[in-house]
Amino acid sequence: MKKNIENGKNGLCYMCGKLKSLNESFYMNFSPLFQVNHIHICKDCIFTYVRNEKDEVDIVKLRYILRLVDLPFLYDYWKAASKSKSESIGKYFSLLGLRQNKSKTYKDSRVEEGEEYFNLQNQYKLLEKQLSEFKNLLAEEQLEFKKKIDKFDRLLNDEKIQI
Ligand SMILES: [Zn+2]
Repeated sequence: MKKNIENGKNGLCYMCGKLKSLNESFYMNFSPLFQVNHIHICKDCIFTYVRNEKDEVDIVKLRYILRLVDLPFLYDYWKAASKSKSESIGKYFSLLGLRQNKSKTYKDSRVEEGEEYFNLQNQYKLLEKQLSEFKNLLAEEQLEFKKKIDKFDRLLNDEKIQI
């Protein structure tokens, strides 16, 4: 059981250095590693930090933040949360507050279908697209594409995708 050493209504964000309302500006942190109940990086800083130049959430950056604050990256929950584009981060942190997730820490992360999986899927889609576009290729070149497709098929179907 952690004792809450936060006192007062405001907390310090370690990223922007501003004092902000604990309840409004910070997500909860259930990790037993810390004697505080909030992640001391404010919502605004997390929102800005995890975004890439296309204004999408960069999962590597999100996982970095989660590692810093000892919270898990849970692929299934992230997938559910990311359906809502602008609220995805907030949704994700609220899903971490669910009873089944509260005791989980970063070591409980499930990334089997994480960004590596997305990359494989994207590469696969790209290859499929190329294959359909290059129907007029020589038989030999078509065979090369077919080999690549088969390889990705095997990788995607392999339960033990190595990360
Ligand atoms: Zn901040």
